[in-house]
Amino acid sequence: MMKVLSKILDDEISNLEKQGLLITPKVIQSAIGPEIIINSKKYINFSSNNYLGFANNPKLKKAAISAIKKYGVGPAAVRTIAGTMVLHQELEKKLSAFKKAEGVILYQSGFVANLSVIPAIISENDIIFSDELNHASIIDACRLTKAQVIRFNHLDTVDLSKKINAVKNKTSSDTKKMIITDGVFSMDGDIAPLPDLVAVSEKYNCILMVDDAHGEGVLGKNGRGIVDHFNLHGKVDIEIGTLSKAFGVVGGFAAGKKEIIQWLKQKSRPFLFSSAMTVPDAAACIEAVNILEKSDELTKKLWTNTSYFKKGLKELGFNIGESVTPITPIMIGEEILTKKFSEYLFENGIFATAICYPTVAKGKSRIRTIISASHKKSHLDYGIKVFSKVRKILGIL
Ligand SMILES: *Cc1c(COP(=O)(O)O)cnc(C)c1O
Repeated sequence: MMKVLSKILDDEISNLEKQGLLITPKVIQSAIGPEIIINSKKYINFSSNNYLGFANNPKLKKAAISAIKKYGVGPAAVRTIAGTMVLHQELEKKLSAFKKAEGVILYQSGFVANLSVIPAIISENDIIFSDELNHASIIDACRLTKAQVIRFNHLDTVDLSKKINAVKNKTSSDTKKMIITDGVFSMDGDIAPLPDLVAVSEKYNCILMVDDAHGEGVLGKNGRGIVDHFNLHGKVDIEIGTLSKAFGVVGGFAAGKKEIIQWLKQKSRPFLFSSAMTVPDAAACIEAVNILEKSDELTKKLWTNTSYFKKGLKELGFNIGESVTPITPIMIGEEILTKKFSEYLFENGIFATAICYPTVAKGKSRIRTIISASHKKSHLDYGIKVFSKVRKILGIL
């Protein structure tokens, strides 16, 4: 046992505390919904990724309970040895049809999906072009490949083309070049310029991968995601999705051409070396896809709520950034002020987290709200009212 380790970590933790960077999550004592209980008090929830209210949907709960009665709770094995159950197969088939993709492979989470897919496709001598604001799981997955990673300016396909051109002489015909982008960027709510990225990937013969964690269940017809939103079926090589956000459960997947999915089922390490998704999770996700396939009621409600909330804040002169999705940042700027803003919201019954440096750039701190189909108009109205009240208390415009 390393004696000094405790001391080193203690010091580091004190440092974080002094800088106001220590993370101390609030503990939720109820199901996740538009209203939640914290410290035995009710709050309106603007912080969850529960876009469609699926986290506590009666149909999903019922599906999970029935599946447990029939199949137990877990597969107790990795997929390749003894863990592939009919539910996994059914969910892969359903998702694949829903996404209009040739195939789908399930993973244990969206984070795991990136760690699984990128290193299975890209090796040391290949090159990755990654949007500078891509998610942490993409960054980590790229590191696992040992390939050169070239970051391009956020959403900037001109910069991307320039950077692809700059390495032209260093690549041979069998060097794989992969462009990776988030679909919806989680801190700003802006969207990747997917049609332009498709054009660049075709022009320079690159593999194109989009991680649509925040677009799944949100963008496209009935929530089919960003590829459907831009009608680019078959033009994006790999689509990563999560079942942990709009789907309200937990899990992840990759969708794409048959050969790619087949390859991932042979080679992606968390598929081979980490146990399969649990029974209730898989069953609840199957039900989520069933609901979305049948009706666009929830996605429509999500977008109506989003417009209503954004309009209300804009009319009051709030800076809500460049968002075109239900992710609605309220830009404050300074770190301590942003934290204070969030605390005052909390005192007034609103749970909306402050997102500060280092998650976003210094001076760009914000309150990030995420709108859900499950919010009632009264929740949104109350939210807008409290935002306005706190701004007055803090004396900012
Ligand atoms: C949230 C998120 C993930 C992780 O998904 P989980 O299912 O929660 O592990 C991956 N990529 C992006 C872009 C995300 O926003």
